[in-house]
Amino acid sequence: MAKATAKTRQTDVVIVGGGLAGLTAGIGLQREGLDVVVLEKDKRLGGRAQSWTDETTGDPVHIGPHIFLTEYPNMFKLLDLLGTRGDIVWEDEHFIVLADGSERLVQEQYPLPAPFHFAPTMMADPRARTRDKLSNLAVTLYAMQMDERDVMRLDGMNAYAFLRRMGVTKAYIDQFWSFACMAIMNVPIEVCSAGALMRFFQKFIGYDTFSFGFPDGGLGDLFAPAAKQEIERAGGEVRLRTEVSRLRVEGERVVGVELADGTTIEAKHTVAAVPPQVLRNLGPRQWMGEYEWYRELVHFHPCPYVSVFLWFDEKITDLRMWARTHSPDDLNCDFYDLSNIHTGWRERPSVICSNIIYCHRTDGMTDEEIVRHTVAEIAETHPAASMDHLEHYVVNRIPMAIHCPYPGTEKRRPVTDPGVEGLVLAGDFVRTELPSSMESAVCSGWMAAEKILEQRGHKKQLHVEHRDLDGLTGLISRTAKLFPTKGAQRIIHGMRRTLDETPLLTRPADPVNK
Ligand SMILES: Cc1cc2nc3c(=O)[nH]c(=O)nc-3n(C[C@H](O)[C@H](O)[C@H](O)COP(=O)(O)OP(=O)(O)OC[C@H]3O[C@@H](n4cnc5c(N)ncnc54)[C@H](O)[C@@H]3O)c2cc1C
Repeated sequence: MAKATAKTRQTDVVIVGGGLAGLTAGIGLQREGLDVVVLEKDKRLGGRAQSWTDETTGDPVHIGPHIFLTEYPNMFKLLDLLGTRGDIVWEDEHFIVLADGSERLVQEQYPLPAPFHFAPTMMADPRARTRDKLSNLAVTLYAMQMDERDVMRLDGMNAYAFLRRMGVTKAYIDQFWSFACMAIMNVPIEVCSAGALMRFFQKFIGYDTFSFGFPDGGLGDLFAPAAKQEIERAGGEVRLRTEVSRLRVEGERVVGVELADGTTIEAKHTVAAVPPQVLRNLGPRQWMGEYEWYRELVHFHPCPYVSVFLWFDEKITDLRMWARTHSPDDLNCDFYDLSNIHTGWRERPSVICSNIIYCHRTDGMTDEEIVRHTVAEIAETHPAASMDHLEHYVVNRIPMAIHCPYPGTEKRRPVTDPGVEGLVLAGDFVRTELPSSMESAVCSGWMAAEKILEQRGHKKQLHVEHRDLDGLTGLISRTAKLFPTKGAQRIIHGMRRTLDETPLLTRPADPVNK
């Protein structure tokens, strides 16, 4: 077991990064009796899902508002272990409210089998013509039968070109798909991988109960303190303010890490649970020549966010959450009133937070300008919001929320075991067949722990498979797997041939300036 000397600590597993992925891997391994050391360079745990206490108000502030989906089984497994799953507040009044100018469009789900649960809302939407709505039939059918191989086939194409190719009208792309792409995939549709977008769309039309949840308090408080306690309870260590400067490599094998203070930690297994931009500087230079996955890390581009928190002196809205329909000139996408979310805050004035996604358009804006613009956007649907009623604000500028799912990125996501002895990868960007998110981060953490157990001769599944799709979507996707060339599949195969003839449309050279 663990031994310590002045300059070197020895352990079974060293984990670089105390975000969701690293902490999950740590919990998975310490529960199997391994000695674990987690190293986090920041002063607090949680990484891109961290939160802290605002000094002026004493209220919890997240790095930025986050939503949970009902289909986050890996995250729920973690929260169940930590005893905090009940600290999620679910949106149970409607699916989502869209703000279109001064109008509120309430989007509902109906008790119909997937994919028909959204059909009544879609067909009743006054903003689109029936012809535009019906132009989605082919792409919906395609999504229902697709599998992970299709995701990879479509990965090189941009989502706009794919949808047009599948017959979706420009009007419907502008009205629905551009918004969905920015809100969910976090990049403009013209530079989004068609495979990544379609994978999400399949889930969206595949589960007939799909809801959003929000943390009932600080986001990091849901997992960070309890995860630290859980790892330490079993004799493991969680160190804050401890930066790893490089992986220690002997011959072909990773044997631990070197810290920024010059000390080392020797480990039988090393889990790199840091974002790709960090990872690509931790390995030795020769890996660039030796490992394709390592070279490819340069293609993971950060999607920056600005998150805004506004404390008003009166109640502005009765909504928990709403989103603006997409316009390229907007700043914010999604808004949350924490006074309507957190238990015991109902009587408080509004505390509204919002996300500015893919926020290059805020470059050069001061915090005050961002706040004024945000208040004006809120006031379009909630006229009570004004600068006169604003008591306090916080603006968080976040260099990366997730990596941009540009065309070609899905294929580049590295696998848990990258083929370097002693090294296992975790993090939201690692290949999990999930979009980069809290769920993919946690799933990758379970998978990293599984891999290490397997390497030690102990096979055990820790990650949770996502359940089968519901309703007609489920039936079609299961049938497509069983009879990939039969019946209705021929129609789809016809579409696939059309797609094969589509020239590979990759992202423009500099998508940031789009
Ligand atoms: C504003 C915002 C909104 C988001 N919204 C959502 C949402 O609604 N739903 C959703 O599911 N996801 C959302 N996400 C994404 C989600 O937060 C991330 O996918 C997830 O938290 C990533 O976890 P991770 O462990 O893979 O990486 P990280 O959280 O980045 O963890 C990596 C850790 O490694 C540490 N580290 C880096 N370098 C070193 C080093 N050299 N030595 C030691 N430690 C190091 C970092 O400090 C960090 O703590 C959002 C993210 C942001 C920022």
